[in-house]
Amino acid sequence: MALYITGHKIPDSDSICSAIAVAYLKNAQGIEAIACKQGDINPETAFILEKFACEVPITKTSYADEDTFITDTTDLALCPDDILDANVVGVVDHHKLGDLTTSTPLEAWIRPVGCSNTIVKEMFDYYNIEIPANIAGIMMCAILSDTVIFKSPTCTKADTKAVKELAKIAGIENPKELGMEMFKIKSAIEGTPIRNLVMRDFKDFNMSGTKVGIGQLETVDITMFDTMKEELLKDLQALKEEGDRHSVLLLLTDIMKEGSELLIASDDISKIESAFGVKTKDSKVWLDGVLSRKKQVVPFLEKTFK
Ligand code: MG
Ligand code: MG
Ligand code: MG
Repeated sequence: MALYITGHKIPDSDSICSAIAVAYLKNAQGIEAIACKQGDINPETAFILEKFACEVPITKTSYADEDTFITDTTDLALCPDDILDANVVGVVDHHKLGDLTTSTPLEAWIRPVGCSNTIVKEMFDYYNIEIPANIAGIMMCAILSDTVIFKSPTCTKADTKAVKELAKIAGIENPKELGMEMFKIKSAIEGTPIRNLVMRDFKDFNMSGTKVGIGQLETVDITMFDTMKEELLKDLQALKEEGDRHSVLLLLTDIMKEGSELLIASDDISKIESAFGVKTKDSKVWLDGVLSRKKQVVPFLEKTFK
């Protein structure tokens, strides 16, 4: 029976690259493992996989009775819908501990670092398995993406060290330069329908029984959204109604200015305001220094909805 490795819904580069890397590691250990994804890859991930000539994982959304290894989340809302019917044999993650439970003992690699791939690197080191150059390349890119080229407050020494070591294996002389190239591709929005933009990096959270959706668009220049904000807000409102959510938030993150504009659709916007200690204007507010959804947004909202 094969082991299936998958990251979270609406996969980002960390989810995809960690699934590929863990699948490689397991195969090297003699376990037949298959990298999977739960949805289409984004343009950044497509760039990474193409650059390092790695295959796109297969799409698989049902895991009942299958041996499964989850990467980059332990939140049920972000796992495959039937994950509680699967045999989860392992997790690797760098988020808050979620509500996934298992029926058998499991291998759990969870650390407060900037990226799941940093922990996957530790797994390779632990098992003393050599990382091929192309796998090292995609792991490195995932870390640069999740840590916003080391700028995110989630970035740790373990992440910078992992990038340094992986760059050496991949033969990349200037990882930061490649990171910037990546973020420019990530920033490209021309011709993309509004809904696709909102959903590009979107996560639903169960906050003490309240459903809150939070999207994030990371760009090298936030002014590209100047003429689109009304349309984006309208779509957030629609998404809120469609999904029975209390609130839908969208972070427009400017990685050069190092902050995010928060766009909000909510049944009670005062809740969001109190979470961040801010006053919104026309359902928008600039949050200076905010780059990380997991560290600078989710915990404050969870507290408010408790
Ligand atoms: Mg992720
Ligand atoms: Mg991640
Ligand atoms: Mg991210």
